[in-house]
Amino acid sequence: MTSRIDPRHLLTVGIDVGGTNIRASVVDADGEVLDTVAAPTPHSARALEDAIDRSVRELARRHRIAAVGLAVAGFISTDQSTVLFAPHLPWQNAPVAQRLSARLGLPVLLEHDANAAGWAEYRFGAAAGGQTVVLVAIGTGIGASLLIDGRLYRGSHGIAPELGHLQVVPQGRACPCGKHGCWERYCSGTALADTAIEMLATDPVRSVLARDVSRDPGSLTGRRVAGAAQDGDPLAVRVMSDFARWLGLGLAFVSDLFDPDLVVIAGGVSSSAPLFLDEAREHYASAVTGAGHRPLARLRTTQLGEAAGMIGVAELARAAVDAPVTGRAAR
Ligand SMILES: [Zn+2]
Repeated sequence: MTSRIDPRHLLTVGIDVGGTNIRASVVDADGEVLDTVAAPTPHSARALEDAIDRSVRELARRHRIAAVGLAVAGFISTDQSTVLFAPHLPWQNAPVAQRLSARLGLPVLLEHDANAAGWAEYRFGAAAGGQTVVLVAIGTGIGASLLIDGRLYRGSHGIAPELGHLQVVPQGRACPCGKHGCWERYCSGTALADTAIEMLATDPVRSVLARDVSRDPGSLTGRRVAGAAQDGDPLAVRVMSDFARWLGLGLAFVSDLFDPDLVVIAGGVSSSAPLFLDEAREHYASAVTGAGHRPLARLRTTQLGEAAGMIGVAELARAAVDAPVTGRAAR
């Protein structure tokens, strides 16, 4: 099916298919991003696939591309060809890999975006050398991936570990997933804003952030809270401390489940790690089962940042070309 080109010389395209934007990058075998194009995410499946097609063709005019990988925020079939369900994208039970592969004449594979990011951090970033690695990507929600002995663990049905929806508070905050009290409702960028509003309602405090919340609670964002905490705003500092507690407690759950040696904190909120990571580590160390009598996971922050998903799925696409007998990409 393919001539045996040394895979170290292949260039592949990794595409981050987000709810707002599509970003496509040419990535080499060292995980270096050589070229990137971006476009808004269309709202129909056909238009989305057209946009991806156009992005790859634009990059293919400048580079010789061997395969394409799509990092998707959604459930992916075990053969990595079909998007089963993606809450922010117009694909449902959609055989996206076959359709795009037929159009592009290239192998195409799909991966859950958190898995792709975890793989990138393992191959080229903060998770290098880890044995049992958990990636916790904290943004509007929580995305997670698990690597065991250098392999992504996808479970029996291809569903990535949905750590963000572990219930930590029975009858807690409502979650878009339909449940209540999910971890990501207390430990995410969205949660920073929700916590600020809740705290202010029960325990008014004078601060710049408190004044903003009172004026227009709907405009509050996690980024705003983090910025205020950086400036020492008393409400924001308390919110950040609450976030650190939930992160630490969640990591204790994660350690009870998987006993990782390494946890990588990624996602938009990770850029504020100096504001919460030490405190989260203390909560984690005291909440984990067998506290004081067991080794703990090292906590690190992402090295590859927002590009991790593209880099990881490009690397997975490269591996699929390298081992065509698995037939995953072109099937
Ligand atoms: Zn949930």
